[in-house]
Amino acid sequence: MKVLVINAGSSSLKYQLIETDTEEVLAKGLCERIGIDGSKLTHTPEGKDKYVEEKPMPTHKTAVQMVLDALIDRDHGVISDINDIAAVGHRVLHAGQYYSDSVIVTDDVKKVVKDCFPLGPLHNPANLIGIEACEDAMPGTPQVAVFDTAFGQSMTSKAYMYAIPYEYYEKYSIRKYGFHGTSHKFVSGRTIQFADLDKDNCKVIVCHLGNGASVSASIGGKCVDTSMGLTPLEGLIMGTRSGDLDPAVVQFIANNENMTVDEVLDVLNKKSGVLGISGVSSDFRDLSAAASDGNERAKIALDAFIYRVAKYIGSYTAAMNGVDAISFTGGIGENDCDTRKKICEYLGFLGITIDDEKNGVRGTETYISTSDSKVKVMVIPTNEELAIARETLALVK
Ligand code: ADP
Repeated sequence: MKVLVINAGSSSLKYQLIETDTEEVLAKGLCERIGIDGSKLTHTPEGKDKYVEEKPMPTHKTAVQMVLDALIDRDHGVISDINDIAAVGHRVLHAGQYYSDSVIVTDDVKKVVKDCFPLGPLHNPANLIGIEACEDAMPGTPQVAVFDTAFGQSMTSKAYMYAIPYEYYEKYSIRKYGFHGTSHKFVSGRTIQFADLDKDNCKVIVCHLGNGASVSASIGGKCVDTSMGLTPLEGLIMGTRSGDLDPAVVQFIANNENMTVDEVLDVLNKKSGVLGISGVSSDFRDLSAAASDGNERAKIALDAFIYRVAKYIGSYTAAMNGVDAISFTGGIGENDCDTRKKICEYLGFLGITIDDEKNGVRGTETYISTSDSKVKVMVIPTNEELAIARETLALVK
C-alpha cells in the first residue's frame, strides 16, 4: 500500500511517498515559500533524477496539487495514478489532551486541531491547512493525523502538572505535553525489539538530540515523563532554544532590555541554546570545530548541553527507579560520537561503560555499550516519516 506522508508548515510542505509493503521511500520532496515570492518544489524520486520546479504557489492547495502532479508525471513520477495513494498521513503538532493515538481525520478531529491553535500557534494552523488541501485534492482518500503530543499523553499528573494555580490547568489546559512523540515512540519501540527487552516492564530512556532536543522515559513502551513541556521550549539546551530556566529571567530581560514578553520568548526560542551561549552557531559540527580551535564559549555551550542531557537521564532513572536501556537518536544523537561519549561519562554510577570502537559509528542501529555494561546503550536512527506511514497503515488497512 502506498502512503503519502505530509508535514505542512506555515510556508513549506515536506512529503514522502512510502510503499508500506517494503517500507521503501518511492519519492520525497519539499515545497518552499508557499504564499511568498519565489515558490519552489524540489522532488526527489527514487532511482531517477531530482526535479525542481519554480512556479508560484499561492496556497497549500496549489502546493499539494504540484506534489501530486510530480508523483504521477511521466518522466519524474513514481506512480501512474493518484488513486494508487491509499491514504495520507499528516504530522500534526498538538492534540492537547484529546488524543493519545493517531486518528482518521473527521470533522471532529479537525475541530480538535483547531481548538488546539492556542497551544500550537505556529504549527497547528499550517497542519490543518495541509489536511484540508489534501482532502480537496484527493476526495475519498483517508487522511490520518499523527500527533506529536500523543506519546506524552500516558504521563500521569505528577509528571505533567506544573506547580501553578490549578485554575490555569482547568481554564487553559496548561500542563506538560511533550513533543517529538512520534520519534520517541518509534525509537523506544525499536529499542525494545533490538535489545529484546521485556516489552511490558522495560525501562527505556530515549535522547532525541537534534536541533530540537528532548529526552523521554518510558516503561513498557508507555511514556512516563518527557523533557519538553507546554511548548517545545522546556527541557534540554537546544540549537537555538534555552530549555529550562528560572521564569524570572523572562521578567529580568524584559525590564532591562525594554522588551515585551513575546519578544523575550522569541529570544528564548530563536537566539538562545548553544547558539546563544557560543555566539558561533546552532550546528554541532560548527561548535565542535570552534571548540577544537580554542573558542571558550563554544566549549561552554557543548559542556552545558552534555551536562543537561546527563542530568535528565539521571532524573529519569530515579523517576523510573532504574533503567534498562538508553538510546540516542536525532542528528546529534546518531552522528556525534564525542557528545554521546561525554554524556555517558556522567553515567558511570549506573554501571554504564562505552565501547569506543562501537561508538565510532554514525547513523546505524547498534549497541555502543560494552557487553558487560549494566545498562544497554545504543544508537537507534529515528524515522518519523516511516513512523507516520506505519501509524496510517494501521488505521486504514
Ligand atoms: P532537526 O531538529 O532540525 O531535525 P537534526 O536531527 O537534523 O535536527 O539534527 C541537526 C543537528 O545534528 C545539527 O546540530 C548538526 O550539527 C548535527 N549533526 C548532523 N550530522 C552530524 C555529524 N556528522 N556530527 C556531528 N553533528 C552532526
